Amino acid sequence: MTAVVTAKGAERWKQGHPWIYRSDVAEEPGNDPGIIRVTDRRSRFLGQALYSPRSEIRLRLLTRGEEPVDAAWWGERISAAAGRRAGIEASAWRAVHAEGDGLPSLVVDKYGPWVVAQLLSAGLERARDDVLAGIRTALAPEGILLRNDAGVRRHEGLPAEVVLAYGQVPELVEVAEDGMRYLAAPWSGQKTGAFLDQRENRALVARHAKSGGRVLDLFTYHGSFALHLARPAAEVIAVDQSAEALARGADNARLNGIGNIVWREANAFDLLRELEQRKERFDTIVLDPPAFAKTKDTLPRAVAGYKEINLRAMRILAREGVLFTCSCSYHVSRDVFQAMLADAARDSGRRLQLLAVCGAAGDHPELVNVPETGYLKGALLRAVD
Ligand code: SAH
Repeated sequence: MTAVVTAKGAERWKQGHPWIYRSDVAEEPGNDPGIIRVTDRRSRFLGQALYSPRSEIRLRLLTRGEEPVDAAWWGERISAAAGRRAGIEASAWRAVHAEGDGLPSLVVDKYGPWVVAQLLSAGLERARDDVLAGIRTALAPEGILLRNDAGVRRHEGLPAEVVLAYGQVPELVEVAEDGMRYLAAPWSGQKTGAFLDQRENRALVARHAKSGGRVLDLFTYHGSFALHLARPAAEVIAVDQSAEALARGADNARLNGIGNIVWREANAFDLLRELEQRKERFDTIVLDPPAFAKTKDTLPRAVAGYKEINLRAMRILAREGVLFTCSCSYHVSRDVFQAMLADAARDSGRRLQLLAVCGAAGDHPELVNVPETGYLKGALLRAVD
């Protein structure tokens, strides 16, 4: 099967972006997804790609070569990606970050001896058996769970499903991270069971937290930031609207013998308003909300939401207090995020130093020419007035 692309489509690959959109495909290879050859209009071979006949993103570049893309090919690529992750201080980490590792639409997370993977395009779904064989060769796991229930699969015409593809994967997996232990839920938790992308930021904030200080961890999920901050702090208030996530957070605290975290089920927006009215102060605040901007159209509302929580957090920050704030909305660019922060800082009347500009952990690499790989942006601020 061969797809023919326009000059504009070919140019995208030349520019280093692996996606070619529907409008830049001159001749479709048919209705069958899978791995196909791609040429330009003069029949010059450009590469092999994953083909998604129902998605706006029609082609995702796999290789510019003509070699067979088989189980051995996947094994080598996954192995190379995993090899780049040496030296991570945790038992759970991302072995393959899709486009960021040159393996579009494939996510492979390692939780100790188990693997949780996501096949996020129709083309990749067709290569499932070879991909699974490649994961087994590269990582020799005891089990592979496919968390194929991510929303993006809808755009590909694929069903949402959670499938045990090989061996066994437990309901809960204990993860060690920077001297802390927590339980991740591969079958039912968010993403593949935990937010691995914030690992380095959790360690960073813990290093900046005031000893004996008061901490507010908003959108805590199962307490990931709270646990790391409980060590230096006197008291941590960990907030989430999900009772289930908080229950696991409390289990995680017990697992580490931590007794200074108060788990609060609340809407972060309401609670912030209340804390501000009560003139409460915190030495360390973490704001790690879900993606407010799910589409481009909702961007203005999303930015208003980010600004509201950041402004209120800035107002309740103690003197010399530190705020870690972030956005995982892919539609909120770094520029938009920084401008929102500047806006909130101005309205808060606080003088805020920018201690660090943050992104996702190193096992979630961004590609310089593919902005979509850099969805997570954060900042560490300190109030110095
Ligand atoms: N900080 C976490 C990840 C947070 S994910 C970590 O590092 O692991 C976002 C969390 O925000 C989810 O657990 C979700 O339940 C929670 N959430 C979403 N909207 C909320 C709201 N309005 N108020 C409080 N929690 C909310």
